[in-house]
Amino acid sequence: MQGMMMHMPLRIIEILDYAAQAHPGAEIVSVRTEGDIHRETYRQAYSRTAQLAHGLSGLGVGQGDRVATLAWNGYRHFELYYAISGMGAVCHTINPRLSAEQMVYIIQHAEDKVLCVDLTFVPLVEALSEHLPDGLILVAMTDREHLPEGKLDWLCYEEVLAGQDETFDWPLVAEDAAAALCYTSGTTGHPKGALYSHRSTVLHALFLSVTVPRSLHEGARILPVVPMFHVNSWGLPYAAPLVGASLIMPGGKLDGASVFDLMENEQVTAAWGVPTVWLGLRAEVEARDSVPSALDQLVIGGSAAPRAMIAFFENHGVDVCHAWGMTEMSPVGTHGQLSPPMQDLPFEERMTAKSKQGRRLFGVELKIADEDGVRQPHDAKAVGELYVRGNAVISGYFNNEAASNGAFDADGWFGTGDVASIDPNGFLYIQDRAKDLIKSGGEWISSLDLENIAIAHPKVANCAVIAVPHPKWDERPLLVVVPRDAGDPPTLSEIHEMLLEHLAKWQLPDAMEFVEDLPLTATGKVSKLTLRQRFADYVLP
Ligand code: ADP
Repeated sequence: MQGMMMHMPLRIIEILDYAAQAHPGAEIVSVRTEGDIHRETYRQAYSRTAQLAHGLSGLGVGQGDRVATLAWNGYRHFELYYAISGMGAVCHTINPRLSAEQMVYIIQHAEDKVLCVDLTFVPLVEALSEHLPDGLILVAMTDREHLPEGKLDWLCYEEVLAGQDETFDWPLVAEDAAAALCYTSGTTGHPKGALYSHRSTVLHALFLSVTVPRSLHEGARILPVVPMFHVNSWGLPYAAPLVGASLIMPGGKLDGASVFDLMENEQVTAAWGVPTVWLGLRAEVEARDSVPSALDQLVIGGSAAPRAMIAFFENHGVDVCHAWGMTEMSPVGTHGQLSPPMQDLPFEERMTAKSKQGRRLFGVELKIADEDGVRQPHDAKAVGELYVRGNAVISGYFNNEAASNGAFDADGWFGTGDVASIDPNGFLYIQDRAKDLIKSGGEWISSLDLENIAIAHPKVANCAVIAVPHPKWDERPLLVVVPRDAGDPPTLSEIHEMLLEHLAKWQLPDAMEFVEDLPLTATGKVSKLTLRQRFADYVLP
């Protein structure tokens, strides 16, 4: 029997429409590329979004067209998110840290019609200009006063909006229609596009809001350090207006001191980002011997949050929520909030629990399977490849049949490429990316386990473990360390001593190398691929 309820398509623009009415006082505060701080309420943002949609229509943007952005987190980028999807077009966020070749590839692959660019990235686009498709319309996200002069013809964002009607008759686009496009950073081969729908995006925002209420609630002031070009800033530009939280947008200033000051000045209550950005904040907290006064929660994900980092912030009174996900999952799949009985555990046990990637979000199913595809129990012991299924998980890659074909198992679950176990309480524990595991004499060694312990050493600022070839054992672990003080680096035996408290002798790294910095991927994670290339010919002592 059919239910008898209305069916309204879920549309992204409804979030902003709702926020403008229900949360008119919540605001978007932006550090602008022009250098100052800008404020607007969701109500103002909604009016400007309507104006922008008129402006984009005037440029010839129609339903299904791709409009690309190359921009930091800021109010104009936010307005683009809503105007583009609201009018039925597709917002393609480009990661400016991709290589020039990858950027040109995805602009062509996505068949972008318009490219909207923050001032910071104007030189980047100028350098690419010979390779850009004919007819691509370029919009500089600024006002007339700051409009770049140069070899390209830039339209001015503020002039695209100016004088336009402050209401827009948003089309009733189908909820399955494409709304946003984000390419994975493509550590191997070409980047692959995840094409989000209105439905997947709205549902993901709802799943997230009920899951992480400590960050996402009315009156909260959230700092998304994770960029809007990295999987829609993990959904915050949708979830924050939905619940009535303000967004504090950092622009391009992501160093520890700038982030600390912005947190203090804007009374930020929660901030989300990858572990590498919190290294900077940590150093700042140590230097100033204080924590931003309103800061209540850090959500850390994108790569494993080291236990020592979690413990550091928890010791300073900041709740840390570890999260795991992927571009292909919109992206959040699990969260590390502890259930009430676990919250009362002794500190060390709590930190151990928080180092795991946590429980699934509603709407995300997890399974682990062995090499034959046989499902494994959630008993904390069985380890296998992690598969996911849900309404905010991709069903294929955009215009990429080859990549889509290999991405799912026979039952249609998406293979994450991560190797994991799940405990009886539902806590996911990512052992490693399959390609980062070290295969030693037929046994696997988790690079994440080694890093997690080694980074807690007082002489280690950051570290990574990679596999290097070994004549007898196939591969052995090499520890690459950024020392806190180059004049007083740790010795391998000191690190071994720490590791031996938790791991077996055969799992310990055979050697250690020092570097000034670890190479990062386009999404700010440690690039193991680059490290593996750098140490490809490494001969173990
Ligand atoms: P990219 O590497 O292109 O930035 P994603 O952001 O989609 O792509 O990365 C997803 C991968 O990042 C996951 O498959 C997993 O390996 C890793 N990852 C994300 N969050 C965590 C976490 N909390 N702990 C461990 N690994 C994580």
